Amino acid sequence: MPIDATQPYDDENIFAKILRGEIPSTKVYEDEWALAFEDINPQAEIHTLVIPKGCYVSWDDFSANAPDEEIGGFIRAVGHVARAKGLVEPGYRLMANIGAHGGQEVPHLHVHIFGGQPLGPMIMRRG
Ligand code: 5GP
Repeated sequence: MPIDATQPYDDENIFAKILRGEIPSTKVYEDEWALAFEDINPQAEIHTLVIPKGCYVSWDDFSANAPDEEIGGFIRAVGHVARAKGLVEPGYRLMANIGAHGGQEVPHLHVHIFGGQPLGPMIMRRG
């Protein structure tokens, strides 16, 4: 069920629980700013999620409210994970869903990294 990206941050969302170690995840990378783990329901050969450690509902919340240092740290972490997985040469795709039309289901910002295969059309075709 897609979320409303304008809602306040909910501490009980599933990725907040992963960050607190309350539920397990297959961790790929962690630093001061970000945690990366494998998506539980992969949509490509490689499907990894990167989340900021700070509490941000969506890309909108993050880009409007996070300090520059946190934004920089998070973006570098996304790039690091993609490089570490060998995705630069074959190519890969980043995706961040925001709110209802974006199909966002978890109300903690996450960037999807897809790769390991040709990824096809960018979005659902019209008509
Ligand atoms: P969204 O639609 O919000 O952009 O994507 C949410 C993603 O989180 C989905 O791809 C879904 O498979 C993944 N996901 C949902 N719950 C869990 C979980 O408990 N663990 C992991 N690793 N991924 C999850």
